[in-house]
Amino acid sequence: MSNKEDANTIVVSPICHPISRWWSKETVAIVTGANKGIGFALVRRLAELGLTVVLTARDTGRGLAAVEALKNEGFHVHFGCLDISNQNSIEKFVTWFQQAFGVVDILINNAAVSFNELYGNSVEQAETVVQTNFYGPKMLTEALLPLFRRESTAARILNISSRLGLLNKLKNPKLKAMLLDEENLSESQIEEMLNLFLKDVKNGTWKSNGWPQIWTDYAVSKLALNSYSKILARRYKGNEEQISVNCFCPGFTQTSMTGGKGLHTADTVAAIGARLALLPVDELPTGKFFVIGSSNPIYSKL
Ligand code: NDP
Repeated sequence: MSNKEDANTIVVSPICHPISRWWSKETVAIVTGANKGIGFALVRRLAELGLTVVLTARDTGRGLAAVEALKNEGFHVHFGCLDISNQNSIEKFVTWFQQAFGVVDILINNAAVSFNELYGNSVEQAETVVQTNFYGPKMLTEALLPLFRRESTAARILNISSRLGLLNKLKNPKLKAMLLDEENLSESQIEEMLNLFLKDVKNGTWKSNGWPQIWTDYAVSKLALNSYSKILARRYKGNEEQISVNCFCPGFTQTSMTGGKGLHTADTVAAIGARLALLPVDELPTGKFFVIGSSNPIYSKL
C-alpha cells in the first residue's frame, strides 16, 4: 500500500488493498467532528468494517442527525457530544465515554475549522483556528491517553492534518531549526511558536515573518499539530505500552471546508484514512505523515 519517500513522509496509494483483519466488534474507535465531511465518512467506513464507533460532534442535533442517517444505511454507531475547543466539553465527554466503553483503541482527531475562502487568506479568526485545530486535539488526546487499551494490537492515534502545515511552508529559519530538532523539541516550544504567531497577527506583522503563505492561520495550527504528533510519538516509542501516533493529509477533498471543491470525495479519503488507522500492528509506524500518492510526492521532516 505504501512506499517510503523519506524518513517521515509516507505516500499511500489511493487504491486500497484488503487489510488483514485484527480488530473485532470490541475494538472501539472515536472520531471527532464527524457529523459531516471526512469525519462522517470515516465513521461510516469504520462501522462498515465492524468496529464499535463513537461519532462525536459539537452540536447534539447535527450529531444525532448523522447517527440517524447512518442507521438508515444499516450502520449502528454511538453518539458523544464533544466540542474539542472546550476543556469542559472534553471532560464531560471523557467521563461519559469511560463509563460507557471503558477503553479506547483508536482515536481519530478529525475536527477542525478554517474560515478562509478557497483562495483567500484571512487571519481574523486566528485564535479560534489555533484553539480548535491544535489545542483541541491536544487536550482531547491528553485526556484520553489513560483510557487507551494497552495490548498487542497497539493503540493508535491518527491526526487528520494538512500538507499546508508541512515544514517546507515555514520560511522563518529560527523556528524551522527548532522544529527540525525533533529529539529536543518540546510542547512548550510549540506553544511559544503559536504565541509568537498570534502576537504577529495582533500586531499586523504576520505577512512578513516567514509564516506559511496559504491559509496562514490554518497552516500554522496544523504545523503545530504535526509537531505535537512527533513529540507524542517519541513519548511512546519503544515503550512496552505503545501508542502509535501518525498524521494523515487527505489532500484537496470535496467538503464544506473547501466549498465542495476538491480532487477527492470524502468517501475515497475515508477509505484510505480508515485503512491507515487499521494497519496491522507489524506494519504500523509511528511519528509519520501520510499523504495520498501522486507523481509529486511531498517531502518533509514533519
Ligand atoms: P468539514 O468542514 O466538512 O468538517 C469539519 C468538522 O469538524 C465538522 O463536523 C465540524 O462541525 C467539526 N468541528 C469544527 N469545530 C469543532 C469543534 N470545536 N469541536 C468539534 N467539532 C468541530 O471539513 P473536512 O471534513 O474537510 O475536514 C476534516 C479534516 O480534514 C480536518 O482536520 C481538515 O483540516 C482536514 N483536511 C481537509 C481537507 C479538505 O480538502 N477538505 C484537506 C486537508 C485536510 P460543525 O458541523 O459543527 O461545524
